[in-house]
Amino acid sequence: MEEGIPIRLSGFRLPVEHLSATSLADFVQCPEKWRRERLKNEWGKKSLDAFIGSVHHNAMGLMLHHRMNGMPYADGPERVMGYAWQDQMDSDDGEPEWTDTPDNVFKLNTKMMISALPVIKEIEPLGVEQFFEFTVKGVPVPIRGSIDAHTKVVNWEFKTNKQKVSTPKSKWQFQARIYQLANPKPTFWAVTTKQVQPVSYWPMHADTPNLTMPVENPDVTVLMIRQAVEQMNDLYARYGPDEHWPLTGVMHEWLCSYCTFGPRNPNPTCPAWRESERAAELRPGRIEPSSERGDGERLTSRTGSHVEE
Ligand code: SF4
Repeated sequence: MEEGIPIRLSGFRLPVEHLSATSLADFVQCPEKWRRERLKNEWGKKSLDAFIGSVHHNAMGLMLHHRMNGMPYADGPERVMGYAWQDQMDSDDGEPEWTDTPDNVFKLNTKMMISALPVIKEIEPLGVEQFFEFTVKGVPVPIRGSIDAHTKVVNWEFKTNKQKVSTPKSKWQFQARIYQLANPKPTFWAVTTKQVQPVSYWPMHADTPNLTMPVENPDVTVLMIRQAVEQMNDLYARYGPDEHWPLTGVMHEWLCSYCTFGPRNPNPTCPAWRESERAAELRPGRIEPSSERGDGERLTSRTGSHVEE
């Protein structure tokens, strides 16, 4: 251990062999979600949004692989999408929870890929899905990941989103900082929307010149990684793998809505969304005005107990 690096992790107990940029970012957003997915292996079915994102990602990778190898993709978009689609169906997380027909989703993914063709033409890739692994002082397991594509001058990341995004989201920036440790180049994002008529935005698009990030201070990124891993280790020591970890996902604008343990589950298993009997009684619509009137209006639950004055 080098001088100046705290030996906080000498008691490292976390049962992980490596950590990825995505895993670290997920942990920072909600430790409880991270515990259930990555320690308890409770992944649930992929949401349709996540499935669409993965298929798009596969399609971009296929097109760029061919471009890198000097073979412009001769097959039509449907053929390329067929391969990208099948790759996702064959993967470990496979089919999503279908909330639309597979045929409609396939068509949408194909339109998304067509909208991204100008981005693909823009990129002269030196590497596609470039795997990396490095170690960080003070962190006992390696950090791994893969950069979507990189050129002589930038790292590219491909994202999908419901609507236009003009600046990179904070989670994307955190991941990109980690990729920059492996390949210190500025980051460019290409974001394709999942609207009926998809649009792709990237830094060369007139509306979205800010979908970029310069090379950030690597010492700060290392500090952020180390602090995240220290917190994981501390939470593991405090709660172990089976007790709930902090439910900080509730502070996020939409994270719980996409979480398999949260409100989209008819029987949420996350305590933040589990309703007590008392809360169920108090739900709007289950409360009716009391006939009893005093200085203020009194409300009485169906059980007849006094609720509020
Ligand atoms: S529902 Fe929200 S708080 Fe609960 S685990 Fe999921 S993201 Fe975290």
